[in-house]
Amino acid sequence: MNPQQAEVGPINFAFRVDASLQRLHARLCFEGAPAAWLKPQANEAWRALKGAWALRGGQREPLTRSGGAIALVGLKAGDCVELEQDLRALASAARGRPDTFAAEGVLALSPDYWLWATSPQSASMRATFEMPEGLGVAVPWPVEGAGAYRIPPSALRWRSHAAFGRFDEATIEVAGGRLRVVILADAWAIGRPRLRAWVQQAAEAAALLDGRFPVDDLLVLITPVGGDEVGFGTVARGGGPSVLLEVGVDIDERELEGDWVAPHELIHLNLPRIDGADPWLYEGFATYYEPVLRARMGDLSPRRAWERLHDGFLRGAGSGTGRALRDESAAMMETYAFWRVYWAGAALMLMADVSLRQAGGDPGSLDAQLGRVRACCQDPDRGWTAEALLEAVAAPDAPDLRAAAGRWLDARRFPDLGATYEALGLRFDAGGRLLTRPGDPGAALRIAIMGRDVDEAP
Ligand SMILES: [Zn+2]
Repeated sequence: MNPQQAEVGPINFAFRVDASLQRLHARLCFEGAPAAWLKPQANEAWRALKGAWALRGGQREPLTRSGGAIALVGLKAGDCVELEQDLRALASAARGRPDTFAAEGVLALSPDYWLWATSPQSASMRATFEMPEGLGVAVPWPVEGAGAYRIPPSALRWRSHAAFGRFDEATIEVAGGRLRVVILADAWAIGRPRLRAWVQQAAEAAALLDGRFPVDDLLVLITPVGGDEVGFGTVARGGGPSVLLEVGVDIDERELEGDWVAPHELIHLNLPRIDGADPWLYEGFATYYEPVLRARMGDLSPRRAWERLHDGFLRGAGSGTGRALRDESAAMMETYAFWRVYWAGAALMLMADVSLRQAGGDPGSLDAQLGRVRACCQDPDRGWTAEALLEAVAAPDAPDLRAAAGRWLDARRFPDLGATYEALGLRFDAGGRLLTRPGDPGAALRIAIMGRDVDEAP
C-alpha cells in the first residue's frame, strides 16, 4: 500500500468558463500525492460531463467512469486532470433549487454541481478562474489574491451558492463585515440601488445583536422572481457564508420597508451552522430576533414587534403535528410544520431572555449568552448540534436557553409563555392588539428587549 495515498497533497483547481456560459473547463493539478478517485458531489452532474482526461508526461489520456467515480490510476505529484462540463446541462439538473437562475449572460449555479470531490479528500484546495472579458464569478470562498481563492473543506460538505456571468456587484461594509452584493438581473422597477440599501439595512439589524456584523465576508445573491414581495431567502455555509434572496420584480417601497426575510436570513449568521435536525434553535433564534432587532433599530415600532411575536406564538401554538418539539424539529422537512418549530423556538428565546434579564448576573440576557458564540464557536468549517452549542455557551447557574430547552423540548404542547408575558406586562385583545400602555408594569424589561417602551418615540 502506498503510504502517500493516505494523505492527498494540495490541489489547485483552474476553472475556465466560455463567453456563452455553455462550458466549464476545470483543470485540477496535484501538487503532492494525487487522489485515488474523483467524483461529483451531485450524482446528476454525471450527465453534464463531456470529458475527463489525465495529463501526465506531456500526454492527454481520456479517463473513464467506473461505478460512482473516476479512478485516477498511475498519477504522480505534479500531474493534472481535466474535466469538461456542460453548464446548461448542470443548470437543468439543478433546476428547482432556488439558487439556480439562468438568463441572458448570467448563470447562478451552486458549486454543489460543478465542484468535484476527491477521495481521499485534500486538506488544501485552491482555485483560480479565467473568465472572458466582462464576465465575473461569485463564489463564497475566501479570496487569496486577484481571481484566486482558497476552497474551505466545508465547500464539499455543505450547500453553497455561486454565479457566473455579467452581473451588478457592489461591496457594502457594515459594522466590520464586508457584504459582496451580487444582483443577477436588472429587472426591478424599484432599481438596484434600492435593493442594496435594503440589504444594508438588514445587515445593520443583524449586527445589532453583538455590535459587529457576524461574519467578515458574506456573498449575497439577489435573483428576480415574479410578484411584488420578497420571496424565498436562504443561508448556505458551504465554502463560506452566502445568502440567497429572491425578490419579486414588482416589489414597491412599502413592501421592501416591511420585509422580514432579509433581516431574518442575515440574523442567522450570528450562530454557526447547526445540524438540520435542530431547526428549533436556529430558526427560533432568527424568528425571535428579527422583530426585536428591527425594533431596536427603529425600523419597527415596539408595539408592532410585540404584536408580531404574539401573532407568531398563536400561529405556532395552533399548528404542528402533535409531536414534541424535539421530534417536530427533526421531522420538519417532511411534515412542513414550519410555524410550530419556528415559533416554539422563538418562544423559548423570549422565555430565556426574560428569565436571564430577571436573574441579572452573568450572562444577564439572551444577547449576552449567545454573544459567547463569537468567542467559542465561530469556526466557519465546524457544524454543531443544538445540544453541543448550548453546552458550549451554557450558564450552568442561570435560567438560560439550555434550561428553557430542557423544560420544553420534550413537551408536546406549545411552550407556556404565561409567566413570561406577566413579567413583561404583555396583554392582548382577542384580535391580537397589544393592550399594554407605556409605563405599565414590566416596562423596564420591555425596554431592555426592544430598546424602548410601547408607543415611545424612537
Ligand atoms: Zn431561517
